[in-house]
Amino acid sequence: MQHSVTDRVTPAIDYDDVLGAQRRLEGVAHRTPVLHSACADEKAQARLHFKAEHLQRIGAFKFRGGYNALDRFDDAQKRAGVVAFSSGNHAQAIALSARLKGMRAVIVMPEDAPEIKIAATRGYGAEVVLYDRYTQDREALGRALAEREGLTVVPPFNHPHVMAGQGTAANELFDETGELDLLLVPLGGGGLLSGCATVARARYPNCRVVGVEPAAGNDAQQSLARGAIVAIDTPRTIADGAQTQALGELTFSVIRQRVDAIVTVSDAQLVDAMTFMASRMKQYVEPTGCLGVAAAFANADAWQGLRVGVIVSGGNVDPLRFASLIAPA
Ligand SMILES: *Cc1c(COP(=O)(O)O)cnc(C)c1O
Repeated sequence: MQHSVTDRVTPAIDYDDVLGAQRRLEGVAHRTPVLHSACADEKAQARLHFKAEHLQRIGAFKFRGGYNALDRFDDAQKRAGVVAFSSGNHAQAIALSARLKGMRAVIVMPEDAPEIKIAATRGYGAEVVLYDRYTQDREALGRALAEREGLTVVPPFNHPHVMAGQGTAANELFDETGELDLLLVPLGGGGLLSGCATVARARYPNCRVVGVEPAAGNDAQQSLARGAIVAIDTPRTIADGAQTQALGELTFSVIRQRVDAIVTVSDAQLVDAMTFMASRMKQYVEPTGCLGVAAAFANADAWQGLRVGVIVSGGNVDPLRFASLIAPA
């Protein structure tokens, strides 16, 4: 990769930050298994190592970053509690992490969020504040709440402690596999990718790091090409965990310096990968969780014979929706 001088801003995180997160997560997060499948290797014409983060606590890697962020609060922040805006996996990650730390958690969610997600978040002991996504500005709402009650906001990706926590997924993967030629990472706002790329650059500089985003929303690909953050309208894709409109300043700075390329996959390719994971590998993976898997299958020619790490990022999908995606009526 070529870098201009202006790229050389100090990156938001380094490998030491990931190692710190790894220590804080020890005995708290699951050390998820690394799965293998001869069928998958044949389909991808490569040796695939799947890091099974759909088997992580709360069903996604987001527990890593969320817990790491809360663990780094100072005493006053711990006493007051945390606020997060999310209807997805980040909400559950913060809710569970706060419960484990004995902290108050307030989660701001759109009032039309699936009842099952609202219930799950409440089930972890968090207070859920609902807002109308058409008439209310959730940022303003959250900021007012944070100020009034002294809560600390933990964003889903654009925060160094969150990014460092997510990187532990790749760190554990490499512990098990040793050197790899290629690492495939699902990409929304870039917390997972920036953390994992930081690990790869430090441990195996020759390992190519590739982010995978939905074709309908390739803002990160455009951002890397342009050398500046490109924002798009909320993309229409089944990969609901990657429906972000733009990278963050911090994630972009790391991705720009440490990621080799960004590729995209279609919703049809995601469905194919989900179906494969379910039927051949017996793994229940949400659409966003399959981004890396789908990329491995779609690029079999280009990546033939490589040792490939694939982060399988999450498994939170409603069973009826799962069924209708893999077997449409
Ligand atoms: C949040 C999420 C992603 C995207 O992670 P970012 O850090 O926002 O890039 C991918 N997969 C799943 C399952 C997620 O929950």
